[in-house]
Amino acid sequence: MTNRHNHHNFIVRRVFAIYATFVPNVFNLFPIVFAFVAPSRQFGRSSFHSQPKLLMSASVDSKVDHVVIAGAGIVGTTTAYFLAMRYDVRVTLVDPTGSIAPAASGKAGGFLAKDWNDNSPTEALTRRSFDLHQQLADELGANTIQYRRLTCAAVSVDPFSSRRPNGKKLSTVEWAQHDDLAQNTVRGMQPLGDESTIAQVHPKRLCEELWKAAKKQVGGNSLRQGSVIGAVHDDESGRLQGAKLGDGSLLECDALLFACGPWTAPSMMQGVKYHSVVIPTSRVLSQCVFFSGCGDPEVYVRPDQTAYCTGFPEAAVVVDEQPGEESIREDKLQTILESVRDASGISGTGDGVLSQEPVLGQACYLPTSIDGIPVMGRIPEQLGCYVAAGHGCWGILLGPATGEAMANLIVNGSSIPNVNMEVFNPTRFATPWNIPTAAAAALIKK
Ligand SMILES: Cc1cc2nc3c(=O)[nH]c(=O)nc-3n(C[C@H](O)[C@H](O)[C@H](O)COP(=O)(O)OP(=O)(O)OC[C@H]3O[C@@H](n4cnc5c(N)ncnc54)[C@H](O)[C@@H]3O)c2cc1C
Repeated sequence: MTNRHNHHNFIVRRVFAIYATFVPNVFNLFPIVFAFVAPSRQFGRSSFHSQPKLLMSASVDSKVDHVVIAGAGIVGTTTAYFLAMRYDVRVTLVDPTGSIAPAASGKAGGFLAKDWNDNSPTEALTRRSFDLHQQLADELGANTIQYRRLTCAAVSVDPFSSRRPNGKKLSTVEWAQHDDLAQNTVRGMQPLGDESTIAQVHPKRLCEELWKAAKKQVGGNSLRQGSVIGAVHDDESGRLQGAKLGDGSLLECDALLFACGPWTAPSMMQGVKYHSVVIPTSRVLSQCVFFSGCGDPEVYVRPDQTAYCTGFPEAAVVVDEQPGEESIREDKLQTILESVRDASGISGTGDGVLSQEPVLGQACYLPTSIDGIPVMGRIPEQLGCYVAAGHGCWGILLGPATGEAMANLIVNGSSIPNVNMEVFNPTRFATPWNIPTAAAAALIKK
């Protein structure tokens, strides 16, 4: 049995207030304080030094016809989408893998919550993005991107305790309905949202469809295999000439966006490695579950009769594995699988809604900035260069509003309605910006 206190899982970061009420435990509260209070305090301190001339709403450097975006994850593809649909601006998307969403954006859960970031620096961006997800589903086709509204619950489990909730509560735990064995493990249940505030999308499909739509809108849009290793500026005017690629070539452009997730800038960006498994479910479920107990696995059920299961994060590191080539450890996959089976009361029985063998096992890095808040805006002292990264466990949710904001900023220097982007300003970091030389330094050899 895995000890839940060893793991800072998503739920403590996502549902801190509700969770604290549900499982009032000092060990569970520590990461909450770390994730929400400490970062915002750090941000408050460093923002004191920010320079007004570099703020998000500064005007653009020149007319923008062609943008190079480094990174084909959710941030890169949403920005490409809004550049194409709103402004007819041509984009060259550059990714070392030559494919769309090879890293976290293709391997995430795709869980979306409208109000779980309220009272945090990302509240307005989250609410805007939640609404944009619905609009994108309408435009791209909800079935195509597996978008749907659903419910969510925190379920406390303990296979060894005899304390049980009453039948009424049990009947609201969807996966445990009609299953005595599963019901035996349930000790408590707390609804975390319904169809008005909870949704989900298939992240990889979303990224692929966004890029497909952007290409259809602007004929010259292209995806190029390669690594952006820096920006080249004119010595005299300081104007951006283009993106320097790992093969030594120069890709001319009017603006360059670094959207390289955890590979963006080692001085202020790290990655937290997660493994995940996808298992077929015996029926279509529509209630995502954050388990408390048995290692705290998270189960995001999907409309294609599968369940995406994850948990057990590793320590944050400067990522040195290459995107799309993240090593997968069988023992880590097995740990997730066993914790889901223990939590859902089916361990050893081979019977139950979550008991089937996985069809997919994978690993990827969650991108996180050193103060836990996304980094978005102009890169200081580098004309025409922008960054958008560090969205932590909410990158899929925040993707659309991020893409919209970055497209507006790049083309006309504006932001998006009712969202104060200044809280994400890269200038809050005192460390020198080393994106041009250090972005994905590990990839230069490619
Ligand atoms: C297990 C797990 C589950 C998650 N579940 C959810 C969820 O349910 N809901 C949610 O909202 N969020 C979720 N997230 C978070 C979300 O997946 C991330 O925040 C988001 O995908 C980050 O997107 P990104 O585009 O910034 O980075 P990435 O997806 O990491 O993309 C970065 C891209 O940059 C490319 N790149 C790297 N170096 C270079 C270079 N030098 N030049 C060009 N390209 C380069 C990489 O190949 C990669 O394609 C989850 C994350 C994890 C790890």
